[in-house]
Formats: sequence, structure tokens, C-alpha cells
Amino acid sequence: MTNAQREDYHASLEIAGAPDLKLVSKLPDVGTTIFTVMSRLANECGAINLSQGFPDFACPEALVDEVTRAMREGHNQYPPMAGIESLRQAIARKIEALYGVRVDPETEVTVVSGATEGLYNAITAAIRPGDEAIIFDPAYDSYDPVIRLAGGSTRRIAMRYPEYAIDWDEVEDSVSPRTRLIIVNSPHNPSGAILRAADMQALSGIANRHDLCIISDEVYEHIIFDGEEHQSVLRYPALRERAFAIFSFGKTYHATGWKVGYCVAPPALTAEYRKIHQFNTFTTCTPMQHALARFMENSAHYLELPAFYQAKRDHLRESLRDSRLRALPCSGTYFQLFDYSAISDKGDYDFAQRLTREHGVAVIPVSVFHGDHTDHKVIRVCFAKHEATLDRAAAILRRL
Ligand code: PMP
Ligand code: GLN
Repeated sequence: MTNAQREDYHASLEIAGAPDLKLVSKLPDVGTTIFTVMSRLANECGAINLSQGFPDFACPEALVDEVTRAMREGHNQYPPMAGIESLRQAIARKIEALYGVRVDPETEVTVVSGATEGLYNAITAAIRPGDEAIIFDPAYDSYDPVIRLAGGSTRRIAMRYPEYAIDWDEVEDSVSPRTRLIIVNSPHNPSGAILRAADMQALSGIANRHDLCIISDEVYEHIIFDGEEHQSVLRYPALRERAFAIFSFGKTYHATGWKVGYCVAPPALTAEYRKIHQFNTFTTCTPMQHALARFMENSAHYLELPAFYQAKRDHLRESLRDSRLRALPCSGTYFQLFDYSAISDKGDYDFAQRLTREHGVAVIPVSVFHGDHTDHKVIRVCFAKHEATLDRAAAILRRL
């Protein structure tokens, strides 16, 4: 990204309409998220939007019917602060079935308004002023600003390109007396890489040796391919006792706009977590909670997700096999990275903008997820779309 582009990208910082009021920004280097920037541009240009991650197909009709039913039944007032009991119980049953661990819905499960809130609460609970948190670049964009809002600082470690693997020796060498927290994310947005059992063992060793807290962002737990098993932090007793595991219903039920998620953490961590949740959103939309509690009883929907999304990944990769875009490995999430260096030597931000404006396909430049804006000339393409949408986009991308 050039300086001019960065200025453009950060132009949204200016506080409009209050000429006499000057706030000293707590996040002077932060602009509007790239997801908003690219989706807005896609809409302005009438481009096919493969940038921000959301399906272009409907969430299950039966789930929508459950919301209507819950509203008609009168579930329209504040729910309990930690989430309705039946939903927390359904979550605990699911976790036991999938990850072989019993969690207490009363003291270990908290329903929140999306994983974004879930992460905010966990980071705020873990980080005190002066603490350091380790995150991995390219990193989901909410982690670092929230760490800094809590008074902490971020130590960014680059994942090894192009497989986006973590060098655990480097992680251990980076731990300082001030390190308090490591945030992991598997399946990983934006790279599509996953953590395997050996990674979890290495993470567990480091966390135990240095007495660190873990936040595990597992919003893509069900979107994992090629027969791989999701390595939830909850499967590992030594990790589980020091971890906040964060999940989102948005990805699982094709309903990203609902903003309902949950956090699973041991009782002492959950107690601190809820102190923050109660003064952040306090509660999460009541009828949605009832609908999800009922709908979750049928596990078929999320158990089908790997095959459902793997078919879309394969379709996209196959459609672009003869193009000049080179697909990188993708083991999970609904994002596929492509190296475009055979097409252009422009920076990825510039390339993504031109692709949107001039060719009508919006994608995400990956350098924005790197603290130092490392640019490997790769773009992120969301394949949570109808095949027809992917085909229309592929027809354009093949001509590049
Ligand atoms: N973490 C990751 C890695 C994500 O990709 C997202 C958004 N898709 C979130 C957290 C936030 O999830 P939610 O929409 O439930 O707030
Ligand atoms: N997580 C979604 C993505 O990676 C977008 C979430 C958002 O827009 N904040 O595209």
C-alpha cells in the first residue's frame, strides 16, 4: 500500500460535524475495516462481491420460522444476561458430542452478540495495561485494536508463507515477562490454514511454561476440508483450563447478520468475562436465542458443512485452474487465497481496487491483515456463494 492509499483508506478517521470537539483518537492508525470498505466499493461499482465473508444464499427457512415462532410466543424481552438456559444447554451438549468434553452451561457458557463481541470481552478480560499479547500475521482485524484499547501492546509473529504455518520456537522466543495472552484462529481467516494436533501440543507447552492465557477464535469450526478434524482448544485439557474459546452461529447457519455467538471458558474466566459482557451488550437478541436452541438439536446441518463448502472451494479452484491466478492451499474457512503475481506487479490493495472498479469483481487484499503491510501479492476470495455467482466471477477472472 502506498502512503496516499493509506491516507485514503484512513480518511474515515475524521470526526465530522463537531468542529469544536477534538477527540484524541485512541486508535489513530485505524480506519474503517477493509470488509466495509470493499463491500461499499462493490456496491458502488455493481461488482460481484467476493470480498467481505458472507453467503449470498439464504439461511435455512426452518430457522427463520423458529424466530417468528419465538416472537409470537412472546420471547421479546430481555433474556438472562449469560444467555437463555436452553441455548446454553444445547451448546454444552454439542461440545460434548463433538469435542468429548463436558462444559457446565451454568458457569462456562456465555451467549454473546457475535464473535466480535466475544473476542472483545475475552481480550478485555485478559489484558491489563502494560500487558503484551501475541497474535499471528495475517491476523483478523479486530484483535490488535482491542488489545490496544485494553492498554496492552501487540507482538505480531508472521505465519510462514505460503503455507501459513506457525513457528512455535519463534513464538516461545517472543514471550517476554509482560506476555499475557496468545490469540489463535483455526481454521484461519484469511489464509484458510488450520492448526493440527502438533500445533496444539506446542501451544499448550508454551502456555503452561509461561502461564499464558489463550483466546481461540473458532468461528469456522465446521468449515474444514479434506477429512481434517477441527482441533478445538476444548479437546486439550491443559489448554482448556486457560482458554476462552469463541464461536459464532453466523458462519454455521448462513446468518452472518444475526450476530449471535458464544464463549466457552472455565468458571473463573467466565466470571470475569461476564462482568465485561454485562456492560458491553448485556444480552443477546432473545427470539434468535430461542430459535437457535431449537434448531441446534438437529446436528445434520453443521455436520454437512465440510462437504457443502468443500464442493464450493473445489468448484472455484477448478474454474480458475487455467487462469493466471495461482490458488494457495486452503484447508478450511470459506476463503480461498490466490497469488496474482503472474498478472500484475501492483500492490494487493491497488490490485483489489482495480479488480473491483475495472473488472467488476471485489476481493480482499491480504496485506491489510499484516501489521507491517507485508504484501505477498495475494487476494482473498470468498466462495460462500451460489455456483452461478462463482461462475460469473470466474469468467471475468479467467480473462485477466
Ligand atoms: N473471527 C473471525 C476469524 C472472523 O472471520 C469473524 C467474522 N467473520 C469474526 C471473528 C466475527 O464473527 P461475528 O460476525 O460472529 O462477530
Ligand atoms: N469476518 C468477515 C470476513 O472476514 C467479515 C466480518 C466483518 O465484516 N466485520 O470477511
